[in-house]
Amino acid sequence: MKIPNGQEIISQFEKWSPKYLAMEGDPIGLHVGTLNKKIDRVLVTLDVNEEVVDEAITKGAGLIIAHHPPIFRPLKNLQTDFPQGSLMEKLIKSDIAVYAAHTNLDVARGGVNDLLADALGIKNTSVLVPTYEAELVKIAVFVPESHEDAIREAFGKAGAGAIGDYEYCSYTLSGTGRFQPTDEADPYIGKAGKMEVTAESKVEVVVRKSEKDRVIKAMLAAHPYEEVAYDVFTLENKEVAMGLGRVGTLETPMTLEEFAAWAKQQLDVPALRLVGDPNAIIKKVAVLGGDGNKYIQQAKRAGADVYVTGDMYFHVAQDAQAIGLNIIDPGHHVEKVMIQGVVDHMSKQQPNWQCEFLPSKTNTEPFRFV
Ligand SMILES: [Zn+2]
Repeated sequence: MKIPNGQEIISQFEKWSPKYLAMEGDPIGLHVGTLNKKIDRVLVTLDVNEEVVDEAITKGAGLIIAHHPPIFRPLKNLQTDFPQGSLMEKLIKSDIAVYAAHTNLDVARGGVNDLLADALGIKNTSVLVPTYEAELVKIAVFVPESHEDAIREAFGKAGAGAIGDYEYCSYTLSGTGRFQPTDEADPYIGKAGKMEVTAESKVEVVVRKSEKDRVIKAMLAAHPYEEVAYDVFTLENKEVAMGLGRVGTLETPMTLEEFAAWAKQQLDVPALRLVGDPNAIIKKVAVLGGDGNKYIQQAKRAGADVYVTGDMYFHVAQDAQAIGLNIIDPGHHVEKVMIQGVVDHMSKQQPNWQCEFLPSKTNTEPFRFV
């Protein structure tokens, strides 16, 4: 087992939560240090503060993956007698890199919003606020039957044929290929100057346009022919939109009061705030991790009986009341579900590295409930 370097770890992470899913202006990515070093322990946290850095030092983690970017607004100075400066100093002196995955991890399938929806038992979810729709292409390649499997494998491995919750999707048709090698050719099948007729298959896959070049490269590497015949088609249909928040249904309807108690338990919070009639029946639930003030209209339009989101302002709560939308505000800290979510995903997806993904045990919730 090899110890990966930081870049390999982040490449693996970004297959799941790519940077292009982030909202514009969101300062995601590497914040502190370098990824050009071997890393055998990664600490996963919601926030980076002094205590979290101490935890990383104690646990020997060379990299912290955080949800909230530690440098959210540009720094004007790095004075080490102020909290942020001293935090940066400690990270650099301890050779700990910090990588932030913020709104891209909110949007990613299986990311923060899906984790929250799962925790609340919301089924048949769809996206609440669409933010990203990938352009698609179709790649069709002609391959001798003997190499069909290898081509499909190469396609799937490179990320082609990933449609919604399915991967390795492809379609194969059998037919006949004809070609005549010239004197200069070095053919895999056949001889120069002689017409060759061979059983070939056409393998088709749908690919995100942004991943097209990588997929073609992987396909060509797995193909036995010197000159590979393949087509790339632009598609009018777009991928199912990805975005912020999720909306779906509960298996068993309950009153708002019962749902609040359930949410409190499932999201592991000591208290939450409620807007609406406690006896209202809740079937459809919208959830959006973090600050969801901006999206009450979307939740109402989606037909949600309750909207679960954090950091609700007084006046927005009044607006929600006025449009008849029930609200549960369990606080911003419920995004801590990402800690175990990232640990589980990365531990499962890592290609047999000698690298541990550790959930931070530091509680970064600033509020106490009295
Ligand atoms: Zn947040």
